[in-house]
Amino acid sequence: MIKRIPWQLIVLVLISISFLSCKSSSHVSEQGLTQNSKASIKKPYVILISLDGFRWDYVDKYKPPHLTNFIENGIQSEYLTPSFPSKTFPNHYSIATGMYPDKHGIIGNTFYSYKKERTYENRNREMVEDGSFYGGSPIWAQADKSQMVSASYFFVGSESKIQDIRPTYYYRYDGAVKNEARIAQAMTWLSLPEKERPHLITLYFSDMDDVGHRYGPSNEVKIKQALFKLDQNLGDLFKGVKSTALPVNIIIVSDHGMSDLSTKNFLEIETIKNDSLYSTIDNGSLVSLHPKKGSNIDAIIRNLKKKEHHFKVYKTADTPGFEYVPKNKDWGAIQVQPDYGYYFSTKGKIETMKTAAIHSVGVHGYGPEHKDMAGIFYAKGPAFKKGFSLGAIRNIEIYPLICEILNLEIPRDIDGSLEMIKSVLKTE
Ligand SMILES: [Zn+2]
Repeated sequence: MIKRIPWQLIVLVLISISFLSCKSSSHVSEQGLTQNSKASIKKPYVILISLDGFRWDYVDKYKPPHLTNFIENGIQSEYLTPSFPSKTFPNHYSIATGMYPDKHGIIGNTFYSYKKERTYENRNREMVEDGSFYGGSPIWAQADKSQMVSASYFFVGSESKIQDIRPTYYYRYDGAVKNEARIAQAMTWLSLPEKERPHLITLYFSDMDDVGHRYGPSNEVKIKQALFKLDQNLGDLFKGVKSTALPVNIIIVSDHGMSDLSTKNFLEIETIKNDSLYSTIDNGSLVSLHPKKGSNIDAIIRNLKKKEHHFKVYKTADTPGFEYVPKNKDWGAIQVQPDYGYYFSTKGKIETMKTAAIHSVGVHGYGPEHKDMAGIFYAKGPAFKKGFSLGAIRNIEIYPLICEILNLEIPRDIDGSLEMIKSVLKTE
């Protein structure tokens, strides 16, 4: 006699099957837009690639063949200026929206939201997917509003419904997905029938950030090794794109650079905490303090100033690094900023590094005036000039540039400006 299978087991099997299928195929957004309008079909294509933590000077220093060739036949800026603070989430979302973090709201990898009365954490899936944290109109939402199909193999913001919109095709972030699989998917998207074919594709590769954090950007052997592997992946993508003969414009950016940090220069966050007077949000290069009701802000600052040692304490409005006096309440009233070359972490993490005999790592997050924080902007395709270089460009300018290429409306409230960047485009 066959034993009856317990229903719990059936549920478990069904859950794991649906989980596996999530990993192997992209989610199709439920918003309804699955086809390009007739006008969108005629538009060119943009692939926006983020190479996390790719410092401005890596290509010149190491000369990876495919990227070097790409730049020679396209455009490059001297460097890409990150928005403050030069952290991953704020900057990816600045690239996606054309706004400074103060305006788009993702002001740190971790921050306290007064509206939500919760602390956003970029490692918390529920919050990452909660669209109400994200301001602005990300570039894929702008495409959607223009009846244009978009796709994302990872980008900050792409997993959440922002203004009720996600990219037409998108994935939940999974760092274990190989670069090759991401590129193969991009090629699959480009080979879809023209009605379903996305005209905007975002891709994300973490390689340079991973290696930069682990070994520090001065470890030439490790940096070069990771760079050349990534360069090969990009070479495969360039080749694949060329074989489609479609009018594809490839834009390559990074969110920030990287600087070396001796592990001796970590500062213990515990030394500045005081949970009865204020809560502390630690982003390493910037620590935001939120005084509790009834706490005296000036008294807190006076007390912390006495402790200043490789860090400084400011009222938020006076903190160096901001592009303008910040208006967003979520910064909190007080900022503690380590000196350049110092970084806050927990006592536990600092001790773990000492035990593991780690002497140097890579960090970022400092003000954009520090050149090591600068990223990259390269582009190539039918919309771009050939062999053209320009000076530094702010990362908030990438958004209006993509809008211009895809003929999408540029929202009036963004911080970036097409005027600052349009010299890279062919005039005809
Ligand atoms: Zn990053």
